[in-house]
Amino acid sequence: MTSVRGCLMAASVDQAELQAMIEDFEASQLSNEREAALQAEADGVASKLQCPICNQCVVLQNRHVIFSSCGRLRVPLQHEQLSVQDLSRGLTDATQEHKASGCRAVPEFCQEERFGIPALYMKCHICQVVRLIL
Ligand SMILES: [Zn+2]
Ligand SMILES: [Zn+2]
Repeated sequence: MTSVRGCLMAASVDQAELQAMIEDFEASQLSNEREAALQAEADGVASKLQCPICNQCVVLQNRHVIFSSCGRLRVPLQHEQLSVQDLSRGLTDATQEHKASGCRAVPEFCQEERFGIPALYMKCHICQVVRLIL
């Protein structure tokens, strides 16, 4: 947007008006970013991994978040390197570890917010284990 730059140089524009223009410009930039993020989410790459929460839908991923179409899983990624494969591995590891502990119950997976960050946990009501997956 060249008009903002133009305004910056125009001495006739008063400061308040200039500030308002810059804020408008920044706000429009922000909403563009938000739209792009929503679009990316709509285009999220579907994986072959089944949603561990409902066991019906599949897990999807875009650059910043792993989510599922049922809407019950939505975990922002802490690192860009993380992917559905890490989630898949985490699920397998946790399930095997739980089985190795001798408990024969089937653990549940659920999303919870702790420390303000949503994350996926494995929980077993029988042996009381709670394990962070992702
Ligand atoms: Zn699901
Ligand atoms: Zn258990």
